[in-house]
Amino acid sequence: MILQRIGLKEIAPRPFALAAIALAMLAAQPGFAPAAVAAADSDDQAGVVAVSQQKVADGSRIVAQASRLAGDEKRTRFVVDIDRNAAFVVFALADPYRVVIDLPETEFRFADGQGRTGRGLVSAYRYGLIGPGKSRIVLDVGGPVKVDKAYVVDAVDDQPARLVVDLVSTTRADFMAALALRPAAKTPKPAPPPALGTHEAVRPGAAGEGREIVVVIDPGHGGIDPGATSRKGTLEKDVVLAFSKKLADVLGKSGRYTVHMTRDHDEFIPLADRVSFAREHKASLLISVHADSVSAGSVSGATVYTLSERASDAVAAALAEKENRSDAIAGVDLSEETDAVADILIDLVQRETKNYAVFFARTLVGELKRHTGVVKNPHRSAGFKVLKAHDVPSVLLELGYLTNPDDEKHLLDAEWQEKVAQSVASAVADYFGERHAQAPD
Ligand SMILES: [Zn+2]
Repeated sequence: MILQRIGLKEIAPRPFALAAIALAMLAAQPGFAPAAVAAADSDDQAGVVAVSQQKVADGSRIVAQASRLAGDEKRTRFVVDIDRNAAFVVFALADPYRVVIDLPETEFRFADGQGRTGRGLVSAYRYGLIGPGKSRIVLDVGGPVKVDKAYVVDAVDDQPARLVVDLVSTTRADFMAALALRPAAKTPKPAPPPALGTHEAVRPGAAGEGREIVVVIDPGHGGIDPGATSRKGTLEKDVVLAFSKKLADVLGKSGRYTVHMTRDHDEFIPLADRVSFAREHKASLLISVHADSVSAGSVSGATVYTLSERASDAVAAALAEKENRSDAIAGVDLSEETDAVADILIDLVQRETKNYAVFFARTLVGELKRHTGVVKNPHRSAGFKVLKAHDVPSVLLELGYLTNPDDEKHLLDAEWQEKVAQSVASAVADYFGERHAQAPD
């Protein structure tokens, strides 16, 4: 998710966090789904692109008189005539692709049938109330788009105020790569809008086409913390490192990603450091690699875990507890938890990130099912600390069980490692849409 802002700088010592509130509060409104507006369901793929903090002086409703579309399939402008300057949030969603504009409570006085037909990148749009004091416009778009500019032009003479949103087409890879929140410092300096107005325009990701896709691979445990141990003495920290190197190799060779590993040798790394490593490298995806042990030696196959407050089942809960113990094993002071993780704002943004992680987890499970064994209910969730980067979609891959002799044999087999690394790479490619972007030949 990429977050940009408009007009926030004068009040925001941590502008990106404040912008995050605006987004999250709007996104968290209960009771979405009046007839005219699509509800944001939990599987939505979201990326916020613009947030305006214009204060509405009184609590009265905005009046939107008319709306129109201009432009073509490369660049489309959506304009709404409004009776005064207003706060708004614009964000894009994928699967299906949409652009959402959230406004304070607005009375739409559009002509009948307005929005039923589209133009350029927009095929149709809907509008309506989505909760107390909140209205929304949803633009249906045929493919991934970038919000190039979004601003309000104040009323002048007989011209009403106008909300202007400019969309340009982009690739799915760029759209998905833009998910991680970029710190405010990395935000390109906003350019003034092309017309009169109190707001500054934003150019999300305007730095150039083909945003770098960073994947962080996190081999679990290491150093003083061996992780699980097989009966024969195989250590989790060793097999997951060997596999992670293979995976980094496969992903790196594709030439599509910049790959970083949290460790490339037998070294202990606290869980919080793994999380901050992914954030510092602006990862678009974090894959933490593990190999579990269970008391029932018959259990075998891979499992993909995503983060959730409540564990999907007792096995997942127990595993999270075990994996989270890594710091305690190494004697890391747990009171040192970064306040970033506890921050409630970040918690809200995290909901969006989690949706992406779930999306990737499902893709990954699909790939693993086809090429290797998976456990029953192979996608599970629990409170893994290593998955808590609020802005990096993160999954934990348990390759198999060291307590199962067959799994152990696989885990130590270079050919098996290669095959599974290829499966993971396929899932990564699917996630970033590389396959869809490739021309069939
Ligand atoms: Zn582990």
